[in-house]
Amino acid sequence: MKKTLILGGGIGGIVAANALKKAMGSSMQVTVVDREPNHYFSSSFPLLMIGERKASKITRDLKQLERKKIKVLRSEVIKLDLPGHRVTTDEGDLDYDYLIISLGVEYHQETVPGFSEFALNAYDFNDVIKTNQRLSSFSSGQIVFFISSLPYKCPPAPYEMMFLLDQFFRQRGLRHKVKLTIVTPDFSPEPLASPKVGQSVRKMLNEKNIEIITEAKVLRVEKNALILDHGTKIPADLLLGVAPHWTPEVLRNTDLVDNSGFVDVNLRTLETCYPSVYAIGDATAIRLPVIGAYAPKAGAFAHAQAVVVAKNIISLSKGLKPRFFYKGKGMCMMNTGFGRARYSTVHYYKKPQPYITLLRPTRLAYWAKVAFEKYWFKRWF
Ligand SMILES: Cc1cc2nc3c(=O)[nH]c(=O)nc-3n(C[C@H](O)[C@H](O)[C@H](O)COP(=O)(O)OP(=O)(O)OC[C@H]3O[C@@H](n4cnc5c(N)ncnc54)[C@H](O)[C@@H]3O)c2cc1C
Repeated sequence: MKKTLILGGGIGGIVAANALKKAMGSSMQVTVVDREPNHYFSSSFPLLMIGERKASKITRDLKQLERKKIKVLRSEVIKLDLPGHRVTTDEGDLDYDYLIISLGVEYHQETVPGFSEFALNAYDFNDVIKTNQRLSSFSSGQIVFFISSLPYKCPPAPYEMMFLLDQFFRQRGLRHKVKLTIVTPDFSPEPLASPKVGQSVRKMLNEKNIEIITEAKVLRVEKNALILDHGTKIPADLLLGVAPHWTPEVLRNTDLVDNSGFVDVNLRTLETCYPSVYAIGDATAIRLPVIGAYAPKAGAFAHAQAVVVAKNIISLSKGLKPRFFYKGKGMCMMNTGFGRARYSTVHYYKKPQPYITLLRPTRLAYWAKVAFEKYWFKRWF
């Protein structure tokens, strides 16, 4: 029996495990390793922040996958011996015929002085719950949301969070007492997209009276302020930040990564420099054709990559040639508040430039996002 080992039970890992097990049944052993007991559906963190989702609704015990005969091991991946087809975890060693790495990124608040003491990490499940608690007693003052550094995953998510904060305070009749500011190192929202997309996000921020500060370099966080270079000090009563993130330590200690620290892969097959070893999702270093910039990181892409890798492993294990290719396509919905969302399609391998659209806010896109959340748990758990 062939063995596929999947490192990471996040978006990419869950999709790959399900696709492989469904197609291969008892002829393949599929094992998912994750340090966390749970799978967290981060697309819904913005709704969790404003109290429109309960933590339990967007969390699943990874052990539920065992009902589908997928093995689940809760442990820390410590070392990869790729020539020896072996992975060391804190529960022991595991061998494999095929390896799928979907370990995502790790947050490094400690690299921004004052972050851990004075700000909450807007991308972290537990800090999002704390943010929700802070919001319930927040009646006036300034909220500053800052992106510490590039790259950061899901480029629309910080804007989605701002639009939902706007909704939260309007619904409580407090909006006129709360100043909202977003601070980004980018020159524009969603800079990989056409200038039209950036302008339309700026227009929405403007209409909702949300201040945006671009090309900002965050130096440190203080008790009630964000300090940028050139000594700019932005006062804040609540600081929400996206912490710097990069690949987990265990990957950076291998020769899988390029000089950006992310895993180098074949753009179409997601295979690494080691045969039968694939990497998908946020941990990968996918460069766009022509312009050479790194591709945006999002669950939609991890999902599509997982399907391609799973199908090719199925072919290989049956003695067939791999014939499925990742096309750099995805779609997402960005909530804009009050039951509306903006639908976005992305084709980032398109030459000479990536193709990214962002439609106007509609109720349909909002309900499509709600439906996708339901589909996610029903389909994969
Ligand atoms: C607030 C927010 C909103 C978002 N909204 C959207 C959206 O609307 N649409 C969209 O497409 N994307 C969205 N994303 C992005 C999306 O969540 C990620 O791109 C996606 O989760 C990446 O999948 P992955 O499998 O690469 O990594 P992950 O889903 O992060 O999974 C990685 C897993 O690896 C585990 N792990 C890491 N290191 C180790 C180790 N050493 N040992 C054991 N286990 C380890 C982690 O515990 C984790 O479970 C959002 C993200 C955030 C934070």
